Amino acid sequence: MSDITRRELLGGAGAAAAALAVNPGILLAQPNAPRAIVFRNTTVVNPDLVQNDVALAVVGDKIAAIGPSDQILKNYPDADVYDGRNKALFPGLINCHAHLTATLQRGFNEDFGFPNSAKLPVQPGSLLRGEEATLMTVIGALEAIRTGTTTFVENAGGISRYAAALSKTGLRWVFAESIRDSENVPGPLSPEGLAKSETPRFSQKLREEGMQRINDLFTAWHGKNNGRISVFPAAALTETSSPELLRDVRAFADKHNLGYTIHLNQSVAEWEFMVKFHKLRPAAFLDRHGFLGPRLFAAHARYVDASEIALLGKTRTIISHQANMAANRGVIPPIPALREAGCPIALGTDNNTNDVFEVMRIALLTERIRRTDPFPGVRPQPEDILADATEGGSRAVNMQATVGSLEVGKKADLFVLDTLKPYLVPAGRLVSAVVHGGHPSDIESVMIDGEFVMRGNKVLTMDEGAIIREADAVSKRIWNKVGPVNIPRLPRPK
Ligand SMILES: [Zn+2]
Repeated sequence: MSDITRRELLGGAGAAAAALAVNPGILLAQPNAPRAIVFRNTTVVNPDLVQNDVALAVVGDKIAAIGPSDQILKNYPDADVYDGRNKALFPGLINCHAHLTATLQRGFNEDFGFPNSAKLPVQPGSLLRGEEATLMTVIGALEAIRTGTTTFVENAGGISRYAAALSKTGLRWVFAESIRDSENVPGPLSPEGLAKSETPRFSQKLREEGMQRINDLFTAWHGKNNGRISVFPAAALTETSSPELLRDVRAFADKHNLGYTIHLNQSVAEWEFMVKFHKLRPAAFLDRHGFLGPRLFAAHARYVDASEIALLGKTRTIISHQANMAANRGVIPPIPALREAGCPIALGTDNNTNDVFEVMRIALLTERIRRTDPFPGVRPQPEDILADATEGGSRAVNMQATVGSLEVGKKADLFVLDTLKPYLVPAGRLVSAVVHGGHPSDIESVMIDGEFVMRGNKVLTMDEGAIIREADAVSKRIWNKVGPVNIPRLPRPK
């Protein structure tokens, strides 16, 4: 097909649309090719371009064409046709930082600071039996699908215990296997923990066991499910990492061309600990040991100072911003300064919730509050935040070439949103209306790797009803045992 014919097919949609439009190699249905799916007469949304009344064709796992509906329907006569009228297709959201096993602690982890100051006599997680811990991760995955996430970074130690269950959900996964080698810092520091802390001691044995776990998970899962599963190495925290551990994690990522991650500057106690014992702020410690760089996505950066922001920017380190959890903790990270310095921003959820759709709204509003623009309330724009949740996320998961936008040749990772809602009509600027006022329940279908995982409001990869009923029964049993007497009830402010 000549260029002229292709251009005619575009119906004068403009240069930007042309760049997104028709891939000549797979325009016509091939014999033995997988059956196409055509979303017809719909709106195709990218942060920088909203195309109205077009069709989007999916063949196999990829977007094969975007263009005028009549032409695309003609080119794919046997397609499974999805009526896209009053619907909008969005690039699937990318959750760059979450801990699915924390789903059990919903309604508790949000309200008592970090680390959680409400001392329970028994940890709820310790009361999970058998496969119940896996069930808690699966219900989090279910929430992610229902809220438009197509790629999910699970950050934990011991993911192999529930990797098989997650792999069946249809999501695109990054299993970020998290390791530590500190002998005397068990986890995130509290102010009391900081006061009692001693010079950190590191264990070669712990480090080697951790690297072995990463390697085993990588061997078992990386590239599985048509490439839908990746395994990345993760250092847990700055305060639990030796220079050698940072070096090993980075070397593994470099060797296998992977992203890698760490929690960075999530509490005041963390940076005070690093200054006390390493004489360096957390980001400077990572820089000193060669850990910063464009394939690192560091989670949080809540308390980075100007010198750390400069280091993160100079090294093009990606920041995964959990706006919801930061707001819960009463802090807004310096995202404007990090952007300015050159850090790409991605979004994540952290504990309890797995809803990036809601995180977009909180990220937009809190960043506007944090900015010091002379005329406030203009930046960032909703399109910037959608870009963080999609393109920014694709950078973090090292899949910029394949996911993060709806373009011909990219993976078909998307969600379909019903736009005929009282709070979305009229909407002169759809992205703004959706980020400010949309509900994740407006999402009626989700496609990942060219396959529907939810269609017409029905989740296809899981028995949703059974999972919710079971998780409800487990959580009631556990929370009845833990609380309510043990959970602090603070008096309302006068
Ligand atoms: Zn975290």
